[in-house]
Amino acid sequence: MNVLVVGAGPAGLRTSEFLAGEGASVTVLERSSEIRRKVCSGLLSAKTVKRFALEDAAENTVHGARIHAGKEGVFVERKNVAYVFDRKLLDSLLLERAEAAGAEVHFGRGFDGSMRFPHDVLVGADGFASTVRSLIGLPAPRYVMGAIGFIRGSFDDYVDIYLDRDLAPGFFAWVIPRSENTAEIGLGVNGKFSSNVLEYLNRFSRFLGFDSYELLGARPIPVDFPMLRVIYGNTALVGDAAVQTKATTGGGISYGLRAADALAHAVLSGDLYSYQRLHRIHIYPRLLLHALARKYLDHVDPERLLRMIKEYGLERDLSRGGDMDDPFFLFSPRFFAFIFRSAVLLI
Ligand SMILES: Cc1cc2nc3c(=O)[nH]c(=O)nc-3n(C[C@H](O)[C@H](O)[C@H](O)COP(=O)(O)OP(=O)(O)OC[C@H]3O[C@@H](n4cnc5c(N)ncnc54)[C@H](O)[C@@H]3O)c2cc1C
Repeated sequence: MNVLVVGAGPAGLRTSEFLAGEGASVTVLERSSEIRRKVCSGLLSAKTVKRFALEDAAENTVHGARIHAGKEGVFVERKNVAYVFDRKLLDSLLLERAEAAGAEVHFGRGFDGSMRFPHDVLVGADGFASTVRSLIGLPAPRYVMGAIGFIRGSFDDYVDIYLDRDLAPGFFAWVIPRSENTAEIGLGVNGKFSSNVLEYLNRFSRFLGFDSYELLGARPIPVDFPMLRVIYGNTALVGDAAVQTKATTGGGISYGLRAADALAHAVLSGDLYSYQRLHRIHIYPRLLLHALARKYLDHVDPERLLRMIKEYGLERDLSRGGDMDDPFFLFSPRFFAFIFRSAVLLI
């Protein structure tokens, strides 16, 4: 079995590791000349980190979040709820594993559909601007433009999230502690504001009281309804290329890794379509809930939202447990009462 994987990000490398480890012949083409630090916060739930044994590459752990909107605030606390990764270290760990399993990774080799590599299966793991997806003829998904920088100071182990529309129209802004004295500042803005994203980041930095910051860069995050179809003939899409990102937060690594496992299983079983079935049962419904929640967040007044979260006691539910990647954990009578009231407010 020959598999050609396009893209050496988390989704492509995890697929490759799994397949090569089971004896498939795996070739990975990566456009960049090496693994680089991608513009990404690298925040992963403790569950995901444990499931994929990623602890060794973690930079920091966080114990909760303070969510702000105008004068309102909500505090969610859970010990070691998430880990923060430098993407260069995370991707390097995944590369090491894929190569140790026997995958052949070629850097500086962009795939454009014209080169001939004999393969039984083609995997498009080439991220937001996927060449494989566009060669199939699929349109680019809707996106927010994300930007990240670093500030120096004194920070605790909590993430701060700012929902105010004037700070980050169409998404939100954040501060993530990376160590005791370094934090990441970042935000996402609706794609139509993408050319101004750095102006928004400058403004956010000043809002936090910092005149300057070290810029990492800006990059789009697919924020759209999930795709029902992820198999086209002998071609499979996975990760950001398949819009397997949470539209609420933009997080895509966790679902990309889970989908990679499902895809590798399907390739090995000789039934590629079983990947699509698993995607539809386990991934699609969760991502759909995130997409619906994003639509809601786009329309609701963030201050009122935080007031209602407190009123309905959802702060406690958020703090208590569950998987931050899996929206189903929130389901409770209190949650449905909250949804009902929210829907009435939006009508
Ligand atoms: C500002 C920001 C913050 C984020 N924060 C988080 C977070 O905290 N947690 C989280 O889970 N996710 C986060 N994400 C999203 C996360 O970065 C992506 O979901 C994740 O990188 C997707 O992994 P992937 O393997 O699908 O694609 P990628 O990591 O994008 O990898 C795709 C690879 O394919 C290569 N490639 C592209 N085209 C070609 C081609 N034609 N030929 C060969 N190679 C090609 C690229 O060079 C790239 O290396 C964030 C994103 C942004 C922009």
